[in-house]
Amino acid sequence: MRMILVGPPGAGKGTQAAKLIDTHKIPHISTGDMLRAAVKEGTEMGKQADIAMKAGNLVSDDVVIGMVIERIAKEDCTEGFMLDGFPRTRPQAEALDTELTNAGVKLDVVLFIEVPDELIVDRITGRRSDPETGAIYHLKFNPPPAELADKVVQRKDDTEEACIARLKKYHSETAPIIPFYEEHGLIRRVDGNAAPDEVTARIKSALA
Ligand code: ADP
Ligand code: ADP
Repeated sequence: MRMILVGPPGAGKGTQAAKLIDTHKIPHISTGDMLRAAVKEGTEMGKQADIAMKAGNLVSDDVVIGMVIERIAKEDCTEGFMLDGFPRTRPQAEALDTELTNAGVKLDVVLFIEVPDELIVDRITGRRSDPETGAIYHLKFNPPPAELADKVVQRKDDTEEACIARLKKYHSETAPIIPFYEEHGLIRRVDGNAAPDEVTARIKSALA
């Protein structure tokens, strides 16, 4: 299955991807995670990305498109992939489309997790993750177990200020990919305003 997860920052894309890969056994490809790895490695690309990410801006299309195309050409993606956080702009969606057409394959579904703006800042500022496993928690909605309480970390861009900037970018740059995929008949909408397990159940029925 070739699948895209789309939705505002904090919609629950990473949380749901972690639950879905058990069933679907396809690589979970998060461009946010790939970019954070590049930042950590201190590569030239990582240094550029760091500046954009901290400010809540998007990393340039060229960089991200190149990174994803290289990744989905790998052998583990032959049977499919779950893209999380890509495409985030119309040019990214078009570049992916061209790439898949050239490879003679098609997307199966674009899962759109909808969450109202007023819930986003709380979700983002309370987000914490386990630096070892990458597991995602939330101080209020999904608190880390006691033994991890001192270990979990907060992302540098999970401040209220950067979150508001990201939300604006989401509406101006990312939301326009929805009509693009609607034209292709690929969108499945899921209401993400419920407990995580309920959202997973909704996704499963949307995919059935
Ligand atoms: P969120 O969990 O808030 O949706 P991500 O982890 O997906 O955020 O992305 C974090 C940041 O990485 C984004 O704010 C952006 O700066 C950068 N980024 C991730 N994916 C892309 C992309 N497809 N295009 C441009 N920038 C991206
Ligand atoms: P995204 O990848 O879309 O940015 P995440 O999966 O990282 O979103 O979730 C953002 C934050 O919201 C995390 O702290 C996560 O624990 C929390 N979260 C995810 N799904 C839900 C939900 N259904 N209800 C409440 N909080 C949630």
